[in-house]
Amino acid sequence: MTKGRFAPSPTGRMHLGNIYTALMSWLSAKSAGGDWLLRIEDLDPQRSRVEYARQIEEDLHWLGLDWDEGGLDNIGDAGPYCQSMRSSIYAEALGKLTDTGYIYPCFCTRADIMATQAPHQSDGRIIYAGTCRPSALPSEFIDPLRPHACRLYVPDTEICFCDAIYGEQRINLAKECGDFVLRRADGAWAYQLSVVVDDGLMGVTEVVRGNDLLLSAAQQQYLYGLLCLPAPRFVHLPLVCTQEGRRLSKRDHSLSMEEMRHRLPPDAVIGRAAYLAGLTDRPEACTPKDLLGIFNIDRIPKAAHVTVPEEWL
Ligand code: GLU
Repeated sequence: MTKGRFAPSPTGRMHLGNIYTALMSWLSAKSAGGDWLLRIEDLDPQRSRVEYARQIEEDLHWLGLDWDEGGLDNIGDAGPYCQSMRSSIYAEALGKLTDTGYIYPCFCTRADIMATQAPHQSDGRIIYAGTCRPSALPSEFIDPLRPHACRLYVPDTEICFCDAIYGEQRINLAKECGDFVLRRADGAWAYQLSVVVDDGLMGVTEVVRGNDLLLSAAQQQYLYGLLCLPAPRFVHLPLVCTQEGRRLSKRDHSLSMEEMRHRLPPDAVIGRAAYLAGLTDRPEACTPKDLLGIFNIDRIPKAAHVTVPEEWL
């Protein structure tokens, strides 16, 4: 059975871009007769707040996007559904990877990495050059008691997966990001590990989210294999952008749930999200259930982004 999910980070109020992602994920799961899961990705203790998570749940209910599993009430038997409660589960997964020799301790600070690694040409991303790979580091430098990050070896080969919107992807992680961190030196779990362990153990079969995570999908596809967990179907959506081509953010107050709820009924917000996704020709008010009959992934544009009409801003 299909199981979709929405995995917001509770770091603020949602905006129209988040609603569009939630709606597409809900429609994709529900139109296939499946379930929809809500997971709270609150791994960043500085930015995450339970009040934001409560507000996200309240906004989703207001919109008619109800979940079958997860949330703060931990509905279901694959919980807990807040990542901050799942440390021991991540530790076990990291232990397995360590035992099989895929992990090495990394003593580099952010400053070391910035100073020694060349940024990726296209977007300035840093590619880790393998400074702490055991083969590169004299053994006297490896002191397991010194605080260190846990880094995962990546192969210099292409990782292949099929995205339901953008088609076949072939990504060489060695060239795109290098060995990546699964646990930071301060003990914080990295998104790449937590998301794979959670989606895998929670039985998620499809992941619908923004196309800014296509590279992450390759990192995750690789991790699914190493952890012997079944990889989900990936559906990456064009990003919702302003007229200037800038990704929607918390700065766009007029499209935050707070503002929209003052001005619009829930059906109007859903109608706008459906229109952005190409499901309808006009942004007419409708409920998520009204869209079940017309939802079709092929209607979602294969473009890099979709643009919010000026009059909504
Ligand atoms: N917590 C992530 C975010 O809000 C979700 C990423 C994902 O869907 O895998 O961006």
